[in-house]
Amino acid sequence: MHEVSLAEGIIDAVERAAEGAGATAVTEARVAVGELSTVELEALRFAFDSVKKGTIANGARLVIDRPEGRGWCMDCGKEVPLHRYGDACPLCGGYRIVATGGRDLKVVDIRATTPDK
Ligand SMILES: [Zn+2]
Repeated sequence: MHEVSLAEGIIDAVERAAEGAGATAVTEARVAVGELSTVELEALRFAFDSVKKGTIANGARLVIDRPEGRGWCMDCGKEVPLHRYGDACPLCGGYRIVATGGRDLKVVDIRATTPDK
């Protein structure tokens, strides 16, 4: 599935960050996967563990944060939490909500070993 290409993208970003920092090994990669994204977390973990082999992130643990989904309610004119597509507005009960956040996957942080520290 597309979790493999997502995992490859994570590894690419991690490798670039590690190179920039002069790191010799990455111990942890922290990613944010928005609540509204369609990423399968277990599939992503599995893909990450297979893609990382032989890279600088070989021994890295994948930590997944889940930022809350956000939406704009057209009836209230306010931004509200949106945990799933199709949920009602928590303020007015309306369904005219446009997702505005929590849809993406991004690499937030890495922990790495550097020779001097
Ligand atoms: Zn509303």
